[in-house]
Amino acid sequence: MSYLFPPAAIVGVPVIGRSELFPVRRIFCVGRNYADHAREMGALDQAEGREPPFFFSKPGDALVVGEGELSIPYPPVTQNLHHEVELVVALAGGGSNITVDAANGLIFGYAPGLDLTRRDMQARAKEKGHPWDMSKGFDASAVIGALTPASVCGHPQQGLVQLQVNGSLRQSGDLSAMIWKIPEVIANLSTQVSLAAGDLIYTGTPAGVGPLVRGDVLLATVAGVGELRAKVV
Ligand code: MN
Repeated sequence: MSYLFPPAAIVGVPVIGRSELFPVRRIFCVGRNYADHAREMGALDQAEGREPPFFFSKPGDALVVGEGELSIPYPPVTQNLHHEVELVVALAGGGSNITVDAANGLIFGYAPGLDLTRRDMQARAKEKGHPWDMSKGFDASAVIGALTPASVCGHPQQGLVQLQVNGSLRQSGDLSAMIWKIPEVIANLSTQVSLAAGDLIYTGTPAGVGPLVRGDVLLATVAGVGELRAKVV
């Protein structure tokens, strides 16, 4: 069987210490998983309790990925592109109704990432009760650094997740402040979709989200995991 035209290429994420790339399938993101960020977005139910986690997704080919300093093209139809620094989980296995205890066993590794958001478009969507897709899942909306295998870094449960823009600290939080811990996120998400090897999960952002402009130089770091350098062009 042949195709009408060449199928889209598989997107691959570099892995520290390995020559093979991690082949990406889908990208899921957790909304408001740190209380301080939920609060800054005015979502007090999430900030003050444990409302069930909610998810949105981005296409696998929305990734900005590669070696060295990455170039983030400033997207169209926004005047307010926001950064959200996040720990990204990369799955080597999947399934449905995964238990919390089994979740870590499915994780290949971790990377620092950025969930880029057209905040003005998202605000209009919220106002009208419209979907978030176009404010979250646009081209080049998911930035990711190199993956560190869990066999090297373990399963980080604490440590700083930070973003510097042009050398000044914009976001800083601790992984231990996640409302829903990573195994709980995987377990919950797997009740809604069947997860599989190649899926990425962006685990939410701490407070301090804000706008980016062309020329900004970004350094995202997750303690014990790695760093990601990028420039908005
Ligand atoms: Mn996010």
